[in-house]
Amino acid sequence: MNDAIQFLPPEVVNLIAAGEVIDSFAAVVRELVENSLDAGATRITVSIFPQLWRVQVADNGKGISLTNLQKCAQAHSTSKIHYREDLVKIATLGFRGEALHSMAQLSQLEILSRTAGEAGWQVVYDTEGKAGSPEAVAIAPGTIVTVADLFGNLPVRRKGLPSFAVQLKAVQNAIWQIALCHPQVTWQVRQDDKVWFNISPGASAKDILPQVLRRVQVTDLVSHQLSVNTHQSSVTSYQLPVDNHESTIEFVLGLPDRCHRRRADWVRVAVNRRWVNITELEQAILAAFARTLPRDRYPVCFIHLRIDPSQIDWNRHPAKTEIYLHNIDSWREKISQGIEEALRISPANLPGTAYHERVGKLLKVSAKKSDYKLNQDLPEPEINKSASDITLMELRAVAQVHNTYIVAEYPDGLWLVEQHIAHERILYEKLLDAWQVVPLETPIILQYLQPKQLEQLEFLGIEIEPFGEKMWAARSAPEMLHNREDCAAALLELSQGEDLQTAQVATACRSAIRNGTPLSLSEMQRLLDDWKSTRNPRTCPHGRPIYLPLAETALARFFRRHWVIGKSHGI
Ligand code: ADP
Ligand code: MG
Repeated sequence: MNDAIQFLPPEVVNLIAAGEVIDSFAAVVRELVENSLDAGATRITVSIFPQLWRVQVADNGKGISLTNLQKCAQAHSTSKIHYREDLVKIATLGFRGEALHSMAQLSQLEILSRTAGEAGWQVVYDTEGKAGSPEAVAIAPGTIVTVADLFGNLPVRRKGLPSFAVQLKAVQNAIWQIALCHPQVTWQVRQDDKVWFNISPGASAKDILPQVLRRVQVTDLVSHQLSVNTHQSSVTSYQLPVDNHESTIEFVLGLPDRCHRRRADWVRVAVNRRWVNITELEQAILAAFARTLPRDRYPVCFIHLRIDPSQIDWNRHPAKTEIYLHNIDSWREKISQGIEEALRISPANLPGTAYHERVGKLLKVSAKKSDYKLNQDLPEPEINKSASDITLMELRAVAQVHNTYIVAEYPDGLWLVEQHIAHERILYEKLLDAWQVVPLETPIILQYLQPKQLEQLEFLGIEIEPFGEKMWAARSAPEMLHNREDCAAALLELSQGEDLQTAQVATACRSAIRNGTPLSLSEMQRLLDDWKSTRNPRTCPHGRPIYLPLAETALARFFRRHWVIGKSHGI
């Protein structure tokens, strides 16, 4: 990119979504920090002095030359785009050349900057963005922008803003969002000259999320990446010829058996390093997590799309949080596919050594009661025939405990799998794929049905007709239930449900192997194989966790295997 700041020609200015960009502390922070990131900064310090209406952002980016310092706060001055064509291939966070100019109008703006190999300069701007005479300063390479007395000339605007506490929360949110999209950056955020919070850099958003969401640990998360060739899937009339069709989607998901939230506040999407609101994609995320979480709970999920700039129109809204994404349906599909892959039980997705507490408690319990049964006669695990090319975990049934838990061995430890809910998950997904209603040989008589229940049964495809005073005959039933002795009770239960999914959950639950049922090793093995091939193996459709992992690393720690005592102890 040519680094010279130029004034955008009027025909480009006219194409840009204009609007009041600087309307809060958070907006000032966002614009300044985005400038730092566009300058390649890896270390950013934000200092806020709310009472003084002052914000300072210091970075170690490439700096601004003296010539550019003299132009940068004037209207439509930018080094990031120059021509109309550039608008369809925006690769920087900024491009309108408006932010510094607005800040000059609304505050006292001062910039100190030094480019590599040159001296540092300090420039103060007037309210039109004109630079005062530069003064030499000794600073490290990078830029320090200070915005002081923000909205000082607009007392009504100041009064209309929420309390400092609310504004600071918005600043914190803005920095969190940006940090997740730029995990390589070290952040220090200060308030009134004291450290407020820091964010350490990481390899991906997975390292940042636990620093932001205190109750979430890195081991509660799984990350996944999907490469998408947008060449075939996205040829549209307005698409320009571009060289790079390889896009990636990065997923960071909270494992549904480990974390979920009261609100959907962490179902988030970023596109090309910017946090955006794309309702269609957020809905795709929620749909992919459907029936994996407890009632009224929402997943933690951050998805970052890195796609060819020609696929995006950033120019929809001045705050750039609303964008047009071409081919939204194919992105929705990819998101569902990626979440499914990430939630699979595969060695690549295995978290490290969480569950210390649970492991500890469990071992205490099993020490008290030693009534487990262990069978030595082990069948070979079946080769998994899953359609997906993800390698699923090799799990081998070795025993059943209390006729309830299957002990499954895998190369790095063992799992306890609750047989009833694992089976419930298998059956539920079967029903999702094929809900079949079959005729009954002998009709089942149901009594005292309310009109709403009748409607519900008919909605589910169950044939039902009056059979006398307050009696009805059901002539068909869901395939999974039709041979069961409790079919009448099951139909009554279904008549009380709300929708097809609830009926499917209820049917799966009723048909699944009960706890307390003894299973042979081969039955257990089949159950494990079927279960690990499900799309959402971690939780049952009610959101309960299905398995408890006892990783070898956790066991080694518990048994103090690092205490080197001697060969006689079998170490
Ligand atoms: P935009 O970011 O849309 O180009 P701004 O008004 O935010 O517009 O900034 C104007 C120009 O000032 C930028 O194009 C860039 O060249 C320069 N600039 C601003 N902040 C920095 C910084 N922290 N480091 C390097 N250059 C900067
Ligand atoms: Mg900018």
